[in-house]
Amino acid sequence: MKVHELHYSNTNTYLIEGEKGKLLFDTGWAGSFPAFCRALGEIKVAVQDIDYILISHYHPDHMGIVQEIADLGAVLLVPDIQESFLHAADSVFAKEKNSAFIPVRDDRVKKLSLEEAGDLLRRIGINGTIVNTPGHSADSISLYLDSGDLFVGDLNPLYELEMHKGTQIEESWKKLLALKPRRVYYGHAKTATIGQAKSIRVAAAVICDSFERKSRIFATARGYGDFKGGWEFPGGKIEAGETPEDALKREIREELETTVRVGEKIDTIEYDYPAFHLSMDCFWCEIVQGDLKLLEAEAARWLTKDELDSVNWLPADITLIEKIREEMGSNSGR
Ligand SMILES: [Zn+2]
Repeated sequence: MKVHELHYSNTNTYLIEGEKGKLLFDTGWAGSFPAFCRALGEIKVAVQDIDYILISHYHPDHMGIVQEIADLGAVLLVPDIQESFLHAADSVFAKEKNSAFIPVRDDRVKKLSLEEAGDLLRRIGINGTIVNTPGHSADSISLYLDSGDLFVGDLNPLYELEMHKGTQIEESWKKLLALKPRRVYYGHAKTATIGQAKSIRVAAAVICDSFERKSRIFATARGYGDFKGGWEFPGGKIEAGETPEDALKREIREELETTVRVGEKIDTIEYDYPAFHLSMDCFWCEIVQGDLKLLEAEAARWLTKDELDSVNWLPADITLIEKIREEMGSNSGR
């Protein structure tokens, strides 16, 4: 499968080549047919080579030359949810003087369900799924290909998603993101690559007074960055070739000038921050040598079991607190 981006009008349109045929996704405004033919010529494709056309939605800037192309042999696929919108733009073009617009000829289109349209495409080697994605308009569809390519027409770009919480736009994106797209092709915005979320592996030390008693644990307040002032367990990134235990000993030496003995693993915390995924191995530790000098943290406290909730934990660290509470000894020293 190959995707060609065609830029010949204000709308980005796409020619998708399957092994046994070609699909055009969207067209430009009325009058752009000659420019469309030239753009196709540049990739050595003739209009007559196009087998099927899908239109993301029937606004004038996406379907202005669809009938001219269909007149040369391509079959316009019209999923049932789009049927009643085929002529939505006719009145817009009717107001334009000298418009080259030709309305869709209903008797020539192929009306079918989303699934049937997907089946037809599969027969020409274009494997994917067509999804109803209202939001921009009720008739909007998106095309997801198994290659990870996703065509969304005028669905609001992913980077605006925060602004559309609780709307059809968010619902549509939920459906699409579940398909795990890798590239998003928009009707007007620039093509975007969706990065695989970065994953960071760290190790954290829950330093206690002793492995037997565990009556007090040591916490530090971060002295830098976005989470400055939040409370956490000291530790840091596991470097390539290091075990989590080695990383902990090294980090505690660097941050606190202290040597620790690494004991049992308490848990591995998996946490999704907005920008990355954190995987944090947490271990009980006790001091072998040193007095926990604060080289990076801005504050530190020894906390008893009763004091565990008295500091403002960072989001990942707080998920560990219940486990620690269960394993800690009480203050009375029993
Ligand atoms: Zn548009």
